[in-house]
Amino acid sequence: MDARTFSLGLLASVSLSWSASTTTWAADVEQMKREAWSWLDSQASILESANQKIWSYAETSLEETKSSQELQRLLANNGFSVEAGVAGMKTAFVATYGSGQPSIGILAEFDALPGVSQAASPSPDVGPNPAAGHACGHSVFGVGSTGAAMAIKEMIAAGGIEGTIKLYGTPAEETGIGKVYMLRAGYFKDDDVILNWHPSDRNRASYGNTKAIANVKFKFRGSAAHASAMPWSGRSALDGVELMNIGVNFMREHIKPDARIHYVITKGGGQPNVVPPEAEVWYYIRADTFTDVVGYYEWITEIAKAAAKMSRTELEEVEVQSELHEMITVRTLSEQTHKNLTAIGAPRWEKTEVAFARTTQMEFQDPFGRTITDETPALSTIIEPLPEVATPAQASTDVGDISWYVPVGGLGVASYGYGLPTHSWPVVAATGTTIGTKALVTAAKTMAATAIDLYTDPEFMERVKADWRKSRGDAPFQTIIPEGQPAPLSVK
Ligand SMILES: [Zn+2]
Repeated sequence: MDARTFSLGLLASVSLSWSASTTTWAADVEQMKREAWSWLDSQASILESANQKIWSYAETSLEETKSSQELQRLLANNGFSVEAGVAGMKTAFVATYGSGQPSIGILAEFDALPGVSQAASPSPDVGPNPAAGHACGHSVFGVGSTGAAMAIKEMIAAGGIEGTIKLYGTPAEETGIGKVYMLRAGYFKDDDVILNWHPSDRNRASYGNTKAIANVKFKFRGSAAHASAMPWSGRSALDGVELMNIGVNFMREHIKPDARIHYVITKGGGQPNVVPPEAEVWYYIRADTFTDVVGYYEWITEIAKAAAKMSRTELEEVEVQSELHEMITVRTLSEQTHKNLTAIGAPRWEKTEVAFARTTQMEFQDPFGRTITDETPALSTIIEPLPEVATPAQASTDVGDISWYVPVGGLGVASYGYGLPTHSWPVVAATGTTIGTKALVTAAKTMAATAIDLYTDPEFMERVKADWRKSRGDAPFQTIIPEGQPAPLSVK
C-alpha cells in the first residue's frame, strides 16, 4: 500500500468513528494500528537502505554528521520540518509534524562505538568503518524510531489523529551527552509522552530501572623534573592520580552494593624519565539513585583533594562532563506497549537468519567457554512476559533524564543472537543484515501503535500521566553540571 491509499483508508475509518459508538471507535483504533503496520511494511525497503547507510558510516559520539543527515533527509522528504544543530550539538535535531496537543516525541539514537568494527558477517571480520561499529545497534534504533514517527505523520496528514509528532535526533548516547544537553536547552519538556526502543536479544516492553551516573574527569598538576638526576625538584601529577585511586578503592567497602565506580587513566605522563607534570583520571560514578551518586561524587572529590595534598600536587580541575538520572518507570505505559507488541508478534525469522545468529553465538562464545546449548534459541521468537516489578538497574541511559520531566515508554526487540551482550561484534554483524531490518520494523510498529493509543484515548493518556506523577514523586531534579555549561563539542 502506498502513502496515498493509506491516507484515504484512514480518512474513511476515522470519519466513521466520530459518529460511532465507543465500541466501534475502539475497533477503529485497532484498524488504524493495522493500517499503520501495513504502511510500515510498505516502507521496509526505504528503512532498510537508511539503516545500511548509517550502519556503514558507524560514526561515534558527536561525529555522527552523515548519520544525522540521513535521518533528517528521510524526515524532511516525508513532510517534517527539521531544526538541525540544536542544543549546541551539530548532530542533534528535532523534526516536527502537526500542531497542538497531544504532543508525542520519539527518540532516535545513531552513534556507534569505537574499536568494535565488524562486517555483516557471522564471523569476526573488519567492517566498512575499521575504527568503529554499531555494537549497541543504534543504527537500527534511529531508523526504527524514524519509521514510527513517519507512520504517525501519515495519520495526522490523513486527519485520523490530531496533535504533534516529533522525532528527536539525540546524538552521543554512548557518552551520555545528547539528551542531557537537549533537556538542559528545554527540549522534551512540552511533550506529553516520549517513546523509544532499544535493540535487544529479546522482545519485551521496557519495565526496568537504570543506574544514575556522574561522568567526571579529575585533572592533577605537578611539576616536571629529570626523574633520575633531580627527582626531588619535581612533583608527580601521576602520584596524585594513583593516590586518589587507592583512596577510592578503600572507599568501596563502605558504599552500598548497587554502586559501581570505574575509572581509566587518560593522562599519565609522557615517558618514565620525566616526572609527569600533568595527569588525568576519568571516573564513572554510578548508583541506583542520583542522590547517592551525588554523595559519592562529593566523597571522591574530597579524596582527590587529599591525594593532591599527599603528593604535593594541585587538583587543577574537576570536570563534570555529564550526568544521568535513574529511569522513572510508568507501569501503565509498559502494559500497553506489551499489549501492542504481543499483537504485532516477534519478528519472523528466515532459516538463513537463524543460521547467521547461531554462528555468531558459537564464534563469540569460543574464547570464553560455551554456554549456548541446543535449547538456546538463535533468535528470540517470543514476547517476554511483563515483569511484576521493575527489573533492577544495571546499565545507564540518558533516556532516564527525560523521564524526570515526561512519562517515557519503551521496548526492546530481538535484533541479534539470544544471550549475546551489547557492545560486542555480533551485535554489529546482525544489525547490518535483514535481522536488523525486521527488528526495526517491529519496533516502529509497536511505538506507532502505542502512540495511536495515546492520541486517541484521552483517558489512557491521563492514566499514564497519573501513574508517572505517582512514580516520579516530588523530589527535585538535582544536577552537578555547572549552570550554563555548554555541551562538549567533541568526545576526548
Ligand atoms: Zn545503546
